[in-house]
Amino acid sequence: MPNAKKKTSPQKSLRLSDRLARLGLSTDSARVLHLPMRYEDETQLLSIHDAERLHGSTVQVEAVVTDCDVQYRPRRQLVVKVRDDSGLLTLRFLNFYGSQVTQMAIGKRLRIRGEMRHGFFGDEMVHPTVKVVEPGTPLPQALTPVYAAGEGLSQSVLRKTIADAMQRIDWQDSLPEQLRASLKLMEFESAIRLLHNPPPDIDAYALLERTHPAWTRVKFDEVLAQQLSMKRAHAARRQQGAPVLPIVGALSEALLGSLPFSLTAAQQRVLEEIRADLRQAYPMQRLLQGDVGSGKTVVAALAAAQAIDNGYQAALMAPTEILAEQHFRKIEGWLTPLGVKVAWLTGSLRKREKEAAKLEIESGAARLVVGTHALIQQEVAFAQLGLVIVDEQHRFGVAQRLTLRNKGIDSVPHQLMMSATPIPRTLAMTYFADLEVSVIDALPPGRTPIVTRLVAQERREEVIERVHAAALEGRQVYWVCPLIEESEALQLQTATETHAMLSAALPDLRVGLVHGRLKPAEKQATMEAFAQGRIHVLVATTVIEVGVDVPNASLMVIEHAERFGLSQLHQLRGRVGRGAAASVCLLMFQGPLGPIAKQRLTIMRESSDGFEIARRDLEIRGPGEFLGARQSGQAMLRFLDLEKDQWLVERARDLATTLLAQQPTVAEAHLARWLGAREEFLRV
Ligand code: ADP
Ligand code: MG
Repeated sequence: MPNAKKKTSPQKSLRLSDRLARLGLSTDSARVLHLPMRYEDETQLLSIHDAERLHGSTVQVEAVVTDCDVQYRPRRQLVVKVRDDSGLLTLRFLNFYGSQVTQMAIGKRLRIRGEMRHGFFGDEMVHPTVKVVEPGTPLPQALTPVYAAGEGLSQSVLRKTIADAMQRIDWQDSLPEQLRASLKLMEFESAIRLLHNPPPDIDAYALLERTHPAWTRVKFDEVLAQQLSMKRAHAARRQQGAPVLPIVGALSEALLGSLPFSLTAAQQRVLEEIRADLRQAYPMQRLLQGDVGSGKTVVAALAAAQAIDNGYQAALMAPTEILAEQHFRKIEGWLTPLGVKVAWLTGSLRKREKEAAKLEIESGAARLVVGTHALIQQEVAFAQLGLVIVDEQHRFGVAQRLTLRNKGIDSVPHQLMMSATPIPRTLAMTYFADLEVSVIDALPPGRTPIVTRLVAQERREEVIERVHAAALEGRQVYWVCPLIEESEALQLQTATETHAMLSAALPDLRVGLVHGRLKPAEKQATMEAFAQGRIHVLVATTVIEVGVDVPNASLMVIEHAERFGLSQLHQLRGRVGRGAAASVCLLMFQGPLGPIAKQRLTIMRESSDGFEIARRDLEIRGPGEFLGARQSGQAMLRFLDLEKDQWLVERARDLATTLLAQQPTVAEAHLARWLGAREEFLRV
């Protein structure tokens, strides 16, 4: 009895609800929508003899234990031998409990699921799932659902929780019958019930592959909810007033006239899109995408010029100090000669400098402010903020972007977000449904393509030779140290060692070092010396990943390239190829490479098109990881496969627009069901 008592104690039940809450399963509707991750097919039983021929796939057999023994060589393990009428099989458990040893006693009949392998002593399974059964125990008639479970939540508890919830919820379909029929969608209740309890005669393949109509309904519903919520947020922001900035005036003209180049057709086109937005009385919400080096900065500066032409201020925020400073120098170089005061604000400024900058911003003396996160601090007040530009927007959280937007006085400033991580169209459409998107899809003319080579680590000496030769020709070199994700300290140490190694190997050259832990002033001094050509070789961690612009640098070495993400490599590589000299990027790798690593590095060698690389990267990594910092619409999509289900996204997008305009109550009901507690992710 003490056991039963323990089970029902309030503390225990509280813990269950806590555990469920951790999975987001506090409400019945959330529980019902907690659909199986996958299914297991326990309906089939094979003889050991037949299973033998299915090496590498998961099979189920039923057999009797003939031997059960704990062995100590080559390491401690439980070895169980079983047999059926057709043959013998060995089961190995490297981690096991004492209870398992008794469970699998000689003579016991086991139902065993696992992967068949050729072992040293014949067929074996390592860590199969086993269940003791009586002879003649019937097989399950249907596929067994497997749920995503948190710590301390077993499949059976989840199954019961979900079954209970299914008895209580209101099954009313959020999509009216007519609409459902026109979209050929399955009814909600039958779809959900089927996914939790698949009937025996179901098309198992369609269920497992999530192509079954029940899955289609679920995927459609969730992407519809996502699109509805993003479009609704977009529409809500449109209700806010923004400064109208109609004049493309003297400053815009002068800036264009003073540039040493003319805009590319692509830059011209996106500039027109931005200019049209700025003329509206509601805030622009535009994402400007362009590959590394496509020339986003000048477009941003021209947008700022338009704000200034209309008597407003503009602010440009970048995620790192180095990047912000590059922007500042470049833009200041353009605007100061035209009589425009550009202020600089970062956390590393001395107190007095900071105060001075804040005063200029508050008084309106500074027409443009460039800086880092410091810009979004509470005490920074603007006289008349009309336009906010966020570079590398995906590096900021949604909340950070919004804070800057709230710095307008009596209206919301226009917002331009920039990204040099080209986001494939499919992703952009799905995750940026709340933004207008402009793309600079061509590079300025006269760029020399970067030649990328893969070099095995063992050839480091040759690489150093090559660095030497390049420097003697007057070219400059980046040497990028390996990414060590587990430990920043280790990464730092590697950078320091590499610096020492290269300094020793290249005594006639000046070798510099930048990394994230340097004091901003030191970082700045080193970057400046490199920009001015006083440093030949710059050893760097990934701090140089974004935006750094030193045209004379034309050789880049990246160590342990196999550890980097593709977009990251592309961004890094974009630091060279900015001048007239032919540029080379050497990707050093530590062999032997696995097939995926090889595939990834080959993509880098073959393509220099950021969009193409991004598309392949997305295929390899999936959207979650690809996007980095959480994007607002991401949390919603649990079941959708962005590649295969693109057609669903397109339909949902169209329907979302129609519903919001014509059937807002349907939209609300649908959102209520699918968003529930998750809406906090999306409220932007
Ligand atoms: P990104 O899009 O990566 O931020 P930048 O704005 O830094 O690219 O531009 C890369 C380089 O190209 C800069 O040196 C910039 O001055 C130059 N550039 C930009 N637009 C043009 C153009 N239309 N013609 C020639 N060079 C350009
Ligand atoms: Mg840039």
